[in-house]
Amino acid sequence: MSTVKFYKEEHQVPLEMHKVRIVQKLFLLPIEERLKKMNEAGNNTFLLQNKDIYMDMLTDSGVNAMSDNQQAAMFQADDSYAGSETCNRLKKAIQDVMGISGFLPAHQGRACENILAETFCKPGDVVPMNFHFTTTKAHITRLGAEVVELVAQKGLQADSMDPFKGDFDIPRLKQFIQENKERISFLRIETGTNLIGGQPISMANMLEVAQICKDNGIISVMDASLLQDNLYFIKTREAAYKDKSTKEIMHELCAAMDITYFSARKLGFARGGCICSNNADLLLKMKEYVPLFEGFLTYGGMEVRSMEAIAVGLYETLDMEYISQGPLFIEHMIKELDAYGVPVVKPAGGLGVHLDASKFFPDMPHNQYPAGALAAAMYIAGGIRGMERGTISEQREPDGTERYAELELLRLAVPRRVFTLSQIEYVADRVKWVWDNRHLVGGLRFVEEPSVLRFFFGRLEPVNDWQEKLVAQFRSDFGDSL
Ligand SMILES: *Cc1c(COP(=O)(O)O)cnc(C)c1O
Repeated sequence: MSTVKFYKEEHQVPLEMHKVRIVQKLFLLPIEERLKKMNEAGNNTFLLQNKDIYMDMLTDSGVNAMSDNQQAAMFQADDSYAGSETCNRLKKAIQDVMGISGFLPAHQGRACENILAETFCKPGDVVPMNFHFTTTKAHITRLGAEVVELVAQKGLQADSMDPFKGDFDIPRLKQFIQENKERISFLRIETGTNLIGGQPISMANMLEVAQICKDNGIISVMDASLLQDNLYFIKTREAAYKDKSTKEIMHELCAAMDITYFSARKLGFARGGCICSNNADLLLKMKEYVPLFEGFLTYGGMEVRSMEAIAVGLYETLDMEYISQGPLFIEHMIKELDAYGVPVVKPAGGLGVHLDASKFFPDMPHNQYPAGALAAAMYIAGGIRGMERGTISEQREPDGTERYAELELLRLAVPRRVFTLSQIEYVADRVKWVWDNRHLVGGLRFVEEPSVLRFFFGRLEPVNDWQEKLVAQFRSDFGDSL
């Protein structure tokens, strides 16, 4: 995106600084078909087929658009088991872009987390972090250790306009360390805090937390999976960094951490994962798990062509014209929805637009899954696939009672460099329509509920005929339009 100004003040929109040279055909089924497909998929957007979806906003993972330079680089992949030039090129990119001299490859972000947990966590340990991510928590708790969230209060307030809602609560962190120092395996800093709405964490906060770790002899680990968006927000929202280059910011940040890991399905516009560190001892401790779980040290389960794409993609994460696209599209959509009165998580973050389902349906019982109901309604209304980030994404308590999520959100992810502005406008339009017709939307109940990861595989049904009523309203408002 550029800072190009449009002639008329009232028509300022983000302008793409790239063009599309490979296209994929999309289909928008008639609403009656969408209703049928949603029910066949058990009202779970994970179970929909991509061919039945117009706007796939499920995730930003592994669905970002590659550049011409990335695709060109993939042709020179050096497919040798040991001593691969591809591995050297990726190592050099990590050194140039992040200023980190050593790395271990892994097949994706959660594989990095598995290695970190295996290396550092034992039963009774605790891992403090600003906020958990699903896969991170699963690996840590699997080994009998515990996750403690220390995000500042503002992070959990959907209506807080703070520019850095991913920040740690520093006084709580200090107290926690005082009381639990011996049990801490490592401390994890999540950039672009995923589960609270892609909200960034400030440079000042991250540097302070890293320093506290140093002072207390605790290993600091940064999850840089969503660092691309966070980098953009540091540069545009944090005054002290306005005049620094993205590369300077990146180097300063990575230098403060003991370990930086990322999912290259997000950072680097490709697929894979890397654990990076300047500390040879720490790398040595983790190293043996790479050939055990992932693959040899030159590829760690990644496909060599993907590694070439990551190497080029990492340089592109320093380019403001590329990395501003997601945040500016998200901001554009949020402005439009907010002006219309639709409850969204603000301020605009990275990753996607988050609709506050508990405000769409204030009277819907929590155990009828408001965020899941909104996900089903959005697919029926517009062929738009979002992801439930609410109670369905939680797991029941050991005694079988529901654990209600703190926030009931529907996430509409905006994959990087993928959609055009008119498609974003279409989504905003259909969200407004669902908002205006929210009184028609009812809840869901499980018909098939797996005991783990129910949000991936679970099947639900509407509690009554609300979906047919929604379709009838659509026909009356839109005629024979798709
Ligand atoms: C996606 C993600 C991960 C896991 O990465 P995968 O490549 O999907 O395994 C870890 N942390 C954060 C913050 C993420 O967004």
